[in-house]
Amino acid sequence: MNNRDNFPPEVVKISKLQAAFICSRPTCRRFTIAPSLSDDMLVQYNGKVAHIAAAAPGGPRYDQNGATERARISNAIFLCSNCADLIDKNNGKDYSVETLKNWKETHRRWVLDNLNKADSSDTTITSHNQSGGITANTVNINTVSQIKVDENRKHDIDIFLKSTKVLNEDQMHNFYSNLNGDGACLIEEVNRIDNICQFFKKTGNSFINPQINEAKLNFVKDIGPLTNFIHLNFDKWPYNQQARNFNIQLKPDYLRDTMYKQMKIEDRQKWDVLFDELKTLLSVVFDGYNNFRKSIKHELYL
Ligand SMILES: [Zn+2]
Repeated sequence: MNNRDNFPPEVVKISKLQAAFICSRPTCRRFTIAPSLSDDMLVQYNGKVAHIAAAAPGGPRYDQNGATERARISNAIFLCSNCADLIDKNNGKDYSVETLKNWKETHRRWVLDNLNKADSSDTTITSHNQSGGITANTVNINTVSQIKVDENRKHDIDIFLKSTKVLNEDQMHNFYSNLNGDGACLIEEVNRIDNICQFFKKTGNSFINPQINEAKLNFVKDIGPLTNFIHLNFDKWPYNQQARNFNIQLKPDYLRDTMYKQMKIEDRQKWDVLFDELKTLLSVVFDGYNNFRKSIKHELYL
């Protein structure tokens, strides 16, 4: 019995057309179609319409609850055949549903942005000189692509500035130093981390610049394990009623009535193991955040 939810032909056709036959992986963007070298009436074609969540049980990113979506265009992404193979390596573990949906959305917008734009290498424009007159010479410059770069940069700066309203650099550093110091923080700090994750998971909050977007995806990918750990292993005991927000702290049941040094040795060992785990998760998130910040500063402000 065939239990694959293959795409119907019209989904395959419209996916190719909407991607403009260009690979949707932002760092690839290869053309996938060209005239045949040997036959006037043929094309060479190496594109694939891939499943985001697998078509059959056991496949990459298979979603057992996704039966109604599996054969729909929402589950399709157009890629070159290299990238289509790549995303399914390790049974899809390296490329999440979220990553692929972000690629698809970024590509959709990129194709839309480029509709009706000329290849800049052929663009001939008349330039204005500094006093406002029109120079006699026509010049070939990358005017069209420069305009696009400026528009894309404006879009990305805008997304970035919005993101700093959810979490800025100082807040991230406070969160890091509180947790890294004694395994404690404020509830509002954890909420902020949850919120930046939600903010970036909205496809509309994708960066057009593929390097920034990849850095963002890596950062967001590691937030989940950290906040899950905090929600599982932290207690919301009101340590300091004077604070406007309750502190939350790693396994305070060991600490409530005693200082660390007076803890029973087996409690202290348990606490140390958890604290090491916390520090590892935290450093991954913090490194990811710094890489993301660096990629933004590099691409947008330099
Ligand atoms: Zn590709």
